[in-house]
Amino acid sequence: MLQTNDYEFWFVVGSQYLYGEEALNTVKEDTMQIIDELNKNGNLAYPIVFKTVATTADSITKVMKEVNFNDHVAGVITWMHTFSPAKNWIRGTKILQKPLLHFATQFSNTIPWQTIDMDYMNLHQSAHGDREYGFINARLHKNNKIVVGHWKDQRVQTQISQWMDVAAAYNESFHIKVARFGDNMRHVAVTEGDKIEAQIQFGWTVDYYGIGDLVAEMNKVTDKDINDTYQECQNKYELDAGENDPQFFEEHVKEQIRMEIALRKFLEAGGYSAFTTNFEDLWGMKQLPGMAVQRLNEEGYGFAGEGDWKTAALDRLIKIMAHNKGTGFMEDYTYNLVEGHEEILGSHMLEVDPTLASTKASVEVHPLGIGDKADPARLVFDGLEGEGVNVTISDFGDQFKMVMYEIEGHKPTEPAPHLPVARQMFTPKPGFYNGVQQWIENGGGHHTVMSFGITSEQVEDLAKMFGLKCITIQ
Ligand code: MN
Repeated sequence: MLQTNDYEFWFVVGSQYLYGEEALNTVKEDTMQIIDELNKNGNLAYPIVFKTVATTADSITKVMKEVNFNDHVAGVITWMHTFSPAKNWIRGTKILQKPLLHFATQFSNTIPWQTIDMDYMNLHQSAHGDREYGFINARLHKNNKIVVGHWKDQRVQTQISQWMDVAAAYNESFHIKVARFGDNMRHVAVTEGDKIEAQIQFGWTVDYYGIGDLVAEMNKVTDKDINDTYQECQNKYELDAGENDPQFFEEHVKEQIRMEIALRKFLEAGGYSAFTTNFEDLWGMKQLPGMAVQRLNEEGYGFAGEGDWKTAALDRLIKIMAHNKGTGFMEDYTYNLVEGHEEILGSHMLEVDPTLASTKASVEVHPLGIGDKADPARLVFDGLEGEGVNVTISDFGDQFKMVMYEIEGHKPTEPAPHLPVARQMFTPKPGFYNGVQQWIENGGGHHTVMSFGITSEQVEDLAKMFGLKCITIQ
C-alpha cells in the first residue's frame, strides 16, 4: 500500500474544578485505563494519545490549536467523564479543523446500587455532560461523529476504529494529487466537474498531462527493469498465452510492463497518488493501458478511465480507508434481468482492480476493438463475494453529491470465453430494481468505487466530514 502519514488521535477529557483536585486525578486515572484498553484491544490502525483533562476555555482552545497545526494528529476524541460546562468548548471547537469524535461512554458500565452516593454521582456524569457538550457541537454545526456505549464493548471499539480510518483518509484527501493523461472522454457528461470546487471541498489537486509526457518516460525504461518485473509477474500470476505465439505474448506483456514502470516513475516524481487515462488520447502508445494500471491499483494508486478524475481521487481516498483491501474502480456494464437472478456485471474494458480478485489473476493478451492499438495485456480474474458498498460522486453544478448503496458481491456462474476481462458480479442490497432505479434517478454515474473493505456508515461519516450531501439508497 502506498505510504500515508504516520497518524495519531488525541484524547481530550472534559471536566471542571467544581469537584476538587482529587476528582480530577480520578478522571485522569480512569481515562488512562480507557485509552490503554482501546490501544491494546481496539484493533486500531492508529494510536490514541492522552492529551489533557480540560477544565477551562483557555486549555481547550490551546489543545485545539495544537491539533490544527500538528500534521500527525488526524483527529480528536473527546469524553465528558464529569460535567464539562460547554461554554468552555465554544472557542476551541469553533477553530478545530480536523475530525471530531464525541465518545459518549461512561467509566462504569453498571449503576452500583449498594455503594452509589453523591460523590459517585459527581464523578460519573457522562449522561449529563454528553448532552451539555452535544448541544454546543450541534449548535456549531460541527458534523462530528458520536459513538455511544461502554468502552470495553467490541461494537463500540469497532465503531471508533472505523471512524479513525475515515478521519485518516479525510486528512490524506488534502494531499491527493491526480495526474490526468488526456482530458475527459469526449461527449461524456457525468465524468466532468468543477476541479476548483473539488480542491476547495476535498483538497484534490488535478493536473493535466499530454500523453506524450508518458511516452517520453516509457522510452527511458530499461530492458533490465522490464525483465525483472516480468519475472515477478511469472511468480505472482498465471501467465496464459492461450492461442498466442509465446514470443508475441511475452512482447505484449512486456509492453504493459514498460508502461507500468514509466507510469510509476512519473507519478512518484510528481507526488501523484491517483491518475486517469483516456483511450481517445493514445498518441505514441502501442497498447491501451491495461495490466499496467491494474498493477498500480494493486499498490494503492487510485484510478479511473476516460479522464474521470473524480472517481480516480475517490478511489484513492477509499483505498486509504480500506487499507487497500477489496477496493477499486468499477463500471456498471450490463444486467442480468432473469427473474430471481437479477444482477449487474461490473467490469471495465481492461482495468479492473486486482484487490477485488477472488481467484488467482491470469495474464492474458487479446485483441481489443476500442482504441485501434495492439492487443493489450490484462489481468483476468473473478471478483469478490460478500457485502460491500458502491459509491460515486457527481457534480450537479451547485454542489457535489455522493450516491451510494450497499451491495452483495457474487462470483460469476458462467465462463465468458469471448469477454477476457476481470468480472465483478453484484446486486444492490436495496433490491435490484429499486436500487438501480434510485441510482439513475439521483444522477449517480456509471463509474464508481466498489469496496468490500468499508461500511456504508464509514462512507456517510466521510461525506459528513466534507459537508458533502450523501444519498444512501435504501
Ligand atoms: Mn468507463
